[in-house]
Amino acid sequence: MIKKSEKAFQEAVNYIPGGVNSPVRAFKSVGGTPRFIKRAKGAYLTDEDNTKYIDLIGSWGPMILGHAFEPVENAVRKAIKSSFSFGAPTVKEVEMAKLICDLVPSVEMVRMVNSGTEATMSAIRLARAYTGKNKIIKFEGCYHGHGDAFLISAGSGALSLGVPDSPGITPSTLGDTLTAPYNDLDAVKRLLETHKGEVAALIIEPVVGNMGCVLPKEGYLQGLRDLCTKEGVVFIFDEVMTGFRLALGGAQERFGITPDLTTMGKIIGGGMPVGAYGGKKEIMQMVAPSGPMYQAGTLSGNPIAMSAGMAMLKHLKKHPEIYAQLDETGAFIAEGLRKSVKELGLNYTVNQIGSMYSLFFTSEHVVDFKTAKTADIPAFSKYFHQMLNRGVYLAPSQFESLFLSTKIDKRIANKILRASHYSLTSLVE
Ligand code: PLP
Repeated sequence: MIKKSEKAFQEAVNYIPGGVNSPVRAFKSVGGTPRFIKRAKGAYLTDEDNTKYIDLIGSWGPMILGHAFEPVENAVRKAIKSSFSFGAPTVKEVEMAKLICDLVPSVEMVRMVNSGTEATMSAIRLARAYTGKNKIIKFEGCYHGHGDAFLISAGSGALSLGVPDSPGITPSTLGDTLTAPYNDLDAVKRLLETHKGEVAALIIEPVVGNMGCVLPKEGYLQGLRDLCTKEGVVFIFDEVMTGFRLALGGAQERFGITPDLTTMGKIIGGGMPVGAYGGKKEIMQMVAPSGPMYQAGTLSGNPIAMSAGMAMLKHLKKHPEIYAQLDETGAFIAEGLRKSVKELGLNYTVNQIGSMYSLFFTSEHVVDFKTAKTADIPAFSKYFHQMLNRGVYLAPSQFESLFLSTKIDKRIANKILRASHYSLTSLVE
């Protein structure tokens, strides 16, 4: 029953563009009515019609410890007693900065912002300020938030809606944004040769979540690191999704790569609106007021958000075994899905690393934007609704990674696999 969600959506479209505050939530690429959620706890979401779903989105990443995780909830309750925002420095911000520098291998200094988008936009400006160059390189199908340059060949919601190149972007932004296919080192080499001495930064999702889950090929990230060092290009890891998820120190720890700058978000705020960018001291000292690159924020370093994020990060630091548990659950689900599609003779592709995974409705080995786009979207949409009807809430797009939380135990993982098997069965019947 989706009566209340239907009513809410009908009303929402009159007041909010498309009825939602972020496009992919509207179910446009899969059709149907988005569920309006009223609460969540642990592994489950509950909608306005009181239907419960196993949540495989986790608020698009932050909820690695499940919903309403008690230490985070308690930290927020305690913090709000001292008011919500001061617009002046707090010791919590220093504590948070020290914690991030301790956890993320390449980060020596960090600036807090309010979203992943703010983090990536600021990191690009900083790279330009540092190098005195204008152009950037990004990868087709990667998403770095909704900054103008990032909406050229973008992934995530932009890709799901079929508009990876948004109107409203100026020709000069287009001219300064170079794009290359993911996992193709030679393409980057060629770009750097053609635009020698013009490129300020190369920004990448070290593991892509925004065209579905796509892994870097062996040696690819190190190859990019070497090219950036050789050409004096600032190498930016966008770890908004992968940070504190693929390992405590993010993808850079997992793959042993040292970027110059790192952008963070999602988990870092424990579910509150937070982002951060950080990296080498030499570069970060260019940020105002210590240097000339201007960047600011009324609510940046907000005490409630810092408290939530810190409670989350401290828990992860204290319990590093969480990452082995998430790896195990991820591998278990991926194996189960592979077995299921094989049994049904479907030949679909499963990409997985740690607690990120995607079932691609294609027989292609998905390594980049081109191969991701071979997915059968109508089949995915049917599967999505089948899963929803069986109480499993997937991302409403083929081009999004799913995220596991520590609350998805073996029992829930088996439920997901059973629901998936029956959903896939109904596709072949
Ligand atoms: N970078 C990556 C890799 C992301 O996945 C996202 C959001 O999904 C962003 C940046 C933008 O973050 P936000 O939505 O907090 O602005």
